[in-house]
Amino acid sequence: MAKNKEKTDAKKLAQKLLVDRKNGCEKMTEDTLENADQYCEGYKAFLNGVKSEREAVDFAVAEAEKAGFVPFDASKKYAPGDKVYYNNRGKAVILAVMGTEGCRGGVRIAASHIDSPRLDLKPHPLYEKNDLALFKTHYYGGIKKYQWTTIPLSMHGRIILKNGTRVDVNIGEQEGEPQFCVTDLLPHLADDQMKKTLNKGVEGENLNILIGSRPIRTDKGDNLVKLNVMNLLHEKYGMTEEDFVSADLEFVPAFRAVDVGFDRSMIGAYGHDDRVCAYPALTAVLNVKQPKKTVVTVLADREEIGSYGNTGLDSEFLRYFIADLAQAEGLEARHVLSLSQCLSADVTAAFDPNYPDAYEALNANYLNCGVGVAKYTGARGKSGTSEATAEFVAEVRSLFDKNDVLWQIGEMGKVDLGGGGTVALYIASLNVDVIDIGVPVLSMHSPFEVVSKLDVYMTYRGILSFYEA
Ligand code: MN
Ligand code: MN
Repeated sequence: MAKNKEKTDAKKLAQKLLVDRKNGCEKMTEDTLENADQYCEGYKAFLNGVKSEREAVDFAVAEAEKAGFVPFDASKKYAPGDKVYYNNRGKAVILAVMGTEGCRGGVRIAASHIDSPRLDLKPHPLYEKNDLALFKTHYYGGIKKYQWTTIPLSMHGRIILKNGTRVDVNIGEQEGEPQFCVTDLLPHLADDQMKKTLNKGVEGENLNILIGSRPIRTDKGDNLVKLNVMNLLHEKYGMTEEDFVSADLEFVPAFRAVDVGFDRSMIGAYGHDDRVCAYPALTAVLNVKQPKKTVVTVLADREEIGSYGNTGLDSEFLRYFIADLAQAEGLEARHVLSLSQCLSADVTAAFDPNYPDAYEALNANYLNCGVGVAKYTGARGKSGTSEATAEFVAEVRSLFDKNDVLWQIGEMGKVDLGGGGTVALYIASLNVDVIDIGVPVLSMHSPFEVVSKLDVYMTYRGILSFYEA
């Protein structure tokens, strides 16, 4: 090595050699920020209209049909540019655009989930106690239970009546409709409760939803408040108490999606996880220009409870769909899958300055630093995760760079604190190259999660560039 020729320009050298992790907004043009804000207006409207996996599928199918997608028919041959969708039981959906090369070189998949943490009803939910009518719930997904008390809730879902009639339910979202809530103890009487850990302060069996307080007008009888509520439900939905057993009813926060911050740079809403990646995955497949490889957006159910069940990605429905595509082109599914690539688009944790100790700052994801890439997720020693190869990460980073997609790469939190899983491992198990990408979220799994508009837009741009590569 030559010795001390001239002084080093440290700034220049750092630019060349070091990773720049500045706030992404500083690097973006005014136009890009405007595009991000505009894109997010559509996203907010989506959030306000879609609060359950069923509503997300209905929305996706309606938008797809407007864009020329038709129901997939496995017996048909498709030409480049043809657009199809496969609706799995109204709770998950696959949308595909046929590429000019078809699927012989593999397909490009973006997978997100459309279920979110919430309060589901038990099979016998309705009861009366001390002249109040309530619903028993069984929470769905990982929640901090205390966060779900004293907030307005709405009810969504579907009831199948004894005679087979299908009744769709959506109440508490529109102006003038009643809402519901879980009560909490007043601080004056909460001495004992306040001594408990956060985990025990509100327990699962306390998450009972207040739904009525007036008895039916009659001479005499028991449980007249319950009877009154049941009577109102019968008038509105034609149901009897037994029909609760054949219903998917979910209570979710009745909040609207709103801008957060004086600068309106963020969005606060229920259900960002994972509609904030599902919306980009959906709009990318709707807007993609003729792709070379067939592109496949899958919006899955059941991720929040481990992807189990026939509408979750632990099921074979994605594999079957790709097998049908392969067969139509005279190919073997296993050959197509082994050449396929997937962006598993799900949220990640954003660094929270209120809780810096939970994160490892050097490897955290930050709001406004773009779409978060994760080589692996998992908990404590990379347990329970697939991991993208160096080769696949290289491909994705150069693709994002080429298309001016602002991205960052990190982990969810400190190594020994644990982390989270996504659908990535289920798709990786099909011998597909998979990498996790997604939007960093503050207050994940709470009733009011926060994301940055720029990161949402970059996730869309990232998926679109993957589809158009
Ligand atoms: Mn998620
Ligand atoms: Mn989640």
